[in-house]
Parts: sequence; C-alpha cells; structure tokens
Amino acid sequence: MSYVDEVLERVIAKNPAEPEFHQAVKEVLESLRPVIEANEEKYRKEALLERLTEPDRQFKFRVPWVDDKGQVQVNTGYRVQFNNSIGPYKGGLRLHPSVNLGIIKFLGFEQIFKNSLTGLPIGGGKGGSDFDPKGKSDREVMAFCQSFMTELCKYIGADTDVPAGDIGTGAREIGYMFGQYKKIKSVYEGVLTGKGLSYGGSLARTEATGYGLLYLTEEMMKCNGHDMKDKVVCISGSGNVAIYATQKAQQLGAKVVTVSDSTGWVYDSEGIDVALLKEVKEVKRARLTEYAAARPSAEYHEGRGVWSVKCDIALPCATQNELLLEDAKQLVANGCIAVAEGANMPTTLEATEYLQQNKVLFAPGKAANAGGVATSALEMSQNSERLSWTFEEVDGKLKDIMVNIFHNLDDAAKRYGKEGDYVTGANIAGFEKVAEAMIAQGVC
Ligand code: NDP
Repeated sequence: MSYVDEVLERVIAKNPAEPEFHQAVKEVLESLRPVIEANEEKYRKEALLERLTEPDRQFKFRVPWVDDKGQVQVNTGYRVQFNNSIGPYKGGLRLHPSVNLGIIKFLGFEQIFKNSLTGLPIGGGKGGSDFDPKGKSDREVMAFCQSFMTELCKYIGADTDVPAGDIGTGAREIGYMFGQYKKIKSVYEGVLTGKGLSYGGSLARTEATGYGLLYLTEEMMKCNGHDMKDKVVCISGSGNVAIYATQKAQQLGAKVVTVSDSTGWVYDSEGIDVALLKEVKEVKRARLTEYAAARPSAEYHEGRGVWSVKCDIALPCATQNELLLEDAKQLVANGCIAVAEGANMPTTLEATEYLQQNKVLFAPGKAANAGGVATSALEMSQNSERLSWTFEEVDGKLKDIMVNIFHNLDDAAKRYGKEGDYVTGANIAGFEKVAEAMIAQGVC
C-alpha cells in the first residue's frame, strides 16, 4: 500500500467520528501524492505524514458561565496546537453550536498549510467552543468570553500561540477575551489578533479576508486571460468575509448579486448595497429579510439557493460544505468561469473535482482566504514593533502577499505537471516549507 493510503487509513482509525478532519487530511494528502511519491523513502523513515497529521497537543475544557436569569450554563472549549515548525501557532477561535473536536482539528490542519503559504512565520492552530453568541446579551457574551479565556490563557502567549477571530468571534468577543488575558497574566502583549484599533489592532484587518480573496481571484483571472470588470459574482454568507469580499469585488468593477445567511438568501438585480448590508449585519445583527425589505431590487428566498443564480464568479464565504456537487453542476451549466473559496472548505471534494474537470478556475480556501491570517501576522509585527501602520501600508502588503500566494501555487502546480490545478499547487507549496522545517528540526 502506498504511504499516503497507509497514513489515511491510520488517521481514520485513530480519529473515529471526526469526518471533517478525515475529509481535510484526505484532500491534502491526495493532492500531495506526487511530492510524497517522489520522496517516499525519506518521508516514511521520518514518519513525516504521521507527525503532520497528529497535533502537537490539544486542549478540551469546561467553560461555565452564568446567564442573565442567574442560571449556570456549561460549554466546551477547545484549542488545538497543530504544528509550530515555522512559527508560533496561529488560527482563529470559532464560536458556533456545531463546534466539536473534529471540526477544530480539520481547521487547525488546514491552517498549517495556509499559514505557510502566506510566506510569514506562523504555525497552525485553531480553537473555539460550542457556545452560540447569537441571541445572547453583551453581558452573557462577556461572561462566556471571560470564562473561556480563564482556561485558554494557560496555553497561549505572544510567542507561543496567537488566536484570532473566526465564525462567531468578532471584535466584541476578542475585546472581552483580551481584557481577561491581560487581567490574569498582567502582561500587555499581542496574544490575540483582530483587536480593536485603540488597543493594538491593525488597520485593514477587518477587511483583510474579503479583500485578500478578491486580490487573489483577480490575479487568477488575469493570469487566465480574464478581468473583473462587469463580471457577475455570487457570494454566499453575509458575515465578515462576505461583506468585504462584496465591497472589494464592486471596487474592482464586478457586480455582486447574492448574499446569504443560515436561514435564506438574497438576490439583488441591481447589485448588493454594501452600506445597507453592513447596517443590517454589522450594526443591527439582523436577518437578511431586513435587507430585502429595505431594497426594492432585492428578493429574499428561504433556504439554500445562491448557486442556482447565473454568474461568472462564485465566492462561497459562509461555512464548510456549503457548495455541493449539484451546485457545482448548476454553476458549470450556467457558464461560471471561476470559484474561489472565502470560507474554509466550503466546497465538497466531489464538487471541487467536478468544477476542475469542467475547467472552472478553482482557488482553494487555504490560499484564497489567507489574507485574514496574513494580516493577523502583520498585526503581530506591528505589536512587536509597538507601531501602527497606515491602512494603505497594510492593504498594500496584503495585496502583495495574495498575488505572491497565487504565483507560488501556480508555480508549484506547474513543477509537478499539474498546471492549472491550484488545489494541488496550494497544498504542495504550503507543505514543502513545513516539511523542510520539520526535517531540519529533527524528531520532535
Ligand atoms: P461570520 O460569523 O462573520 O459569518 C458567517 C456567515 O456564514 C454568516 O452570514 C452566517 O449566517 C453564514 N453561515 C454560517 N453557517 C451557515 C450555514 N450552516 N449555512 C449557511 N450560512 C451559514 O464568519 P466569517 O465571515 O468570519 O467566516 C466565514 C468563513 O470564512 C468561515 O468558514 C471562516 O472559517 C472563514 N474564514 C474567516 C476568516 C476571517 O478573517 N473572518 C479568515 C479565513 C477564513 P448566520 O448569520 O445566519 O449565522
């Protein structure tokens, strides 16, 4: 049996009931086959893949807090420190009822390669909790965040592990967590990124993932003979990534006609009104029905359906496994040119394969949404320097990083005879650096 198949079998046997983790490992290892096969003896002897698929350590802890009725609630917290061979662990904290160890491990595993691809010195980690901030008062969110950080603070630090936001963890949650860390540890350090501007945050961090997605998409389109002007774009989600992807797509001359949330989606024939979307989602924290109610050109639909709309570019920016094979078929039938993942693993393996077989340009999340973590690393640099850069400076560096990421994965794909296969290219480019560092650092 090949080394890749052996390790895949072992990962599934050793980590039962973690389907998302299996899916992520399978996707990465399958696409690394050409590199692994070229170095099979060496990697086997080093047990490189076994080491790569086993986190350095993982923490699971109780998070008790008191709700507004005086009732004690108990959630579960997680932090998985996956691999720090090229830098301190770095990766977001997801607060969502669906969170479990398998999801955190899949995200942490993907993060290793994404962080490596940015070219910056950051390792892979991820964390979160099954707490749902939706519908909670500010006081309840603060009580949860303080309890969560009371335990998490034992494992993190500016040179050890630097968490950030993710689904459900925005500026408010990061603020409460940072305050609690500072109180317990009595140190003022850049232990979290995505901080508010008044206490060490970076300009352009809020916009970074969505903007970065568009910088990479634009470069991919350009290198394949297309531009962004007048392209029709379908976006899913209406959170941080989706909002700023919509904004940048429109700045680049495209027209974004859809956004969605977990209950429904909006089609706006005039193009999404970003100011209104921000008002509904960032200020009122309301449903998309309010967007549709305020905008005559918009239709609201219950349930799924974003990918049934005819578009040139599809940008899934909501959550994992939201673009299925049937959606991929619909996109191809509608003449879609490119799909770039703003979310983490939003496209199923079958859907990805179908898109690639049908010559749709496909940029995987670990490359396409790396702008967020890249800018987090720029926030770490500014914190270390005790300086703040201007918006233009950060945005300029972000653009350079995203353009470089695209060329790195394009080159890696070409080197292994897989021209245009950006999934393989991203995995290879991310993997090569980590593998080299792991081997150089000996068995640890
Ligand atoms: P937010 O919490 O800001 O927004 C998530 C959006 O997705 C919301 O509109 C939410 O709708 C929707 N959504 C969540 N679950 C589902 C579901 N099951 N079906 C349909 N829609 C759903 O998160 P972000 O925008 O920050 O993150 C989105 C994705 O991007 C995630 O995969 C995240 O890991 C990834 N990512 C984020 C980065 C960042 O910097 N923020 C960096 C890199 C990746 P509702 O409001 O109804 O829940």
